Amino acid sequence: MKKLTLPTQIAIGMAIGVLLGAWLGESILVIKPIGDLFLRLIRMVVVPLVFASLLVGTATVGDPKKLGRIGGRTMAYYLCTTAIAITIGLLIANIVQPGAGMDPIVQERLLADFSAGADASVERMQQRPSVTDTLLDIVPQNPIEALATANMLQIIFFAVMFGVALTMVPRPEHKAAVLSFFEGVSDAMIQLVHIVMLIAPIGVLALMAVAVGQFGLDVLRVLLLYAACVVVGLLLHMSLVYTAAVRLFAKMSPRRFFTAIRPAQLVAFSTSSSGAALPVTMDRVTKGLGVPEQVSSFVLPLGATINMDGTALYQGVATVFIAQVYGMELGVGGQLTIVLMATLASIGAAAVPGVGIITLAMVLEQLGLPLEGVALILGVDRILDMLRTATNVTGDASAAVIVAAAEGQLESGEQNDATA
Ligand code: ASP
Repeated sequence: MKKLTLPTQIAIGMAIGVLLGAWLGESILVIKPIGDLFLRLIRMVVVPLVFASLLVGTATVGDPKKLGRIGGRTMAYYLCTTAIAITIGLLIANIVQPGAGMDPIVQERLLADFSAGADASVERMQQRPSVTDTLLDIVPQNPIEALATANMLQIIFFAVMFGVALTMVPRPEHKAAVLSFFEGVSDAMIQLVHIVMLIAPIGVLALMAVAVGQFGLDVLRVLLLYAACVVVGLLLHMSLVYTAAVRLFAKMSPRRFFTAIRPAQLVAFSTSSSGAALPVTMDRVTKGLGVPEQVSSFVLPLGATINMDGTALYQGVATVFIAQVYGMELGVGGQLTIVLMATLASIGAAAVPGVGIITLAMVLEQLGLPLEGVALILGVDRILDMLRTATNVTGDASAAVIVAAAEGQLESGEQNDATA
């Protein structure tokens, strides 16, 4: 019998998890440690992998002009796709009007049930530092602390500076020694991802079972139209924008693209964390799609941290939904503010579960919408978080492919991935 491929095994694990969660409800929580074990193992790889591979990537690009070009292209692509994502979200929410005419009794109930969770989100959002402090905070005062606390933006900054400085070291034997050490670290971390992925099917089974067992299907029914708007928007964004982008800019068959990155999407979906999915995304993009490490190790960690198309799209729909429920008119100015604020909010959101709803409070506040609105949508947030994270990761992978193609560095990748 033919051995099942990893994505198929993961998909089967997910399906069994959903069934078990729906069947056993909260009692499925006993298997939570298995999911947590998988999450911890995969997170264990993130910091050393990002640091080592980004340093190596930067040092081997060498030429600061080329580095600037790659950085510029990456940022331009990230900003454009994020703006498109929010626009799709706004269009759908304005056409479907999921929040218009919500039953006041349902509204009361949702507000009562979820206000505690909403308070926590609002409180965390209000502790945010100012914009200047946020920008200054990208520069670590102590890189070891940045590594120890997994502060991704600080790690990225230090790794790039380290890489640039390394190219300027006068003694070639010193340069070569440091480079080959970190190359070894990066290769070993990729191997470690392969080992951890052996338990992925069981890990995602547990994660899915716990998620379904916990959130229940009742809230989903009430918020079905809102959730459907987000889901349709995310699927449209993935199937239109990324498909067109990889075809047009990288001349790559979208089928090949999506087949190769499926394991990364599945891990993003089941962990709700682009950060946790990062090692798998890096592996798939380099091995499966032929993006050189030089490009992927720069574009992907940056993308996991600042590029969140799925989160931005969801924030667009959620903001309009909340405004509609409260009967508030947003107008064109309001909608433009959403585009700007949701872009910033998605850049500022960390690549971990449930952060999108916290930075959503920032968008609501800017528009003068009631922050308790968060309570209305909290019930379905877990499932939407899964989908928006899978979208976020897909956007990062498409950027890696496009930037590599623009640099003329896209290789053929694995043969068995070239299914199209
Ligand atoms: N969980 C998302 C991510 O890691 C962020 C969010 O909450 O939208 O990409």
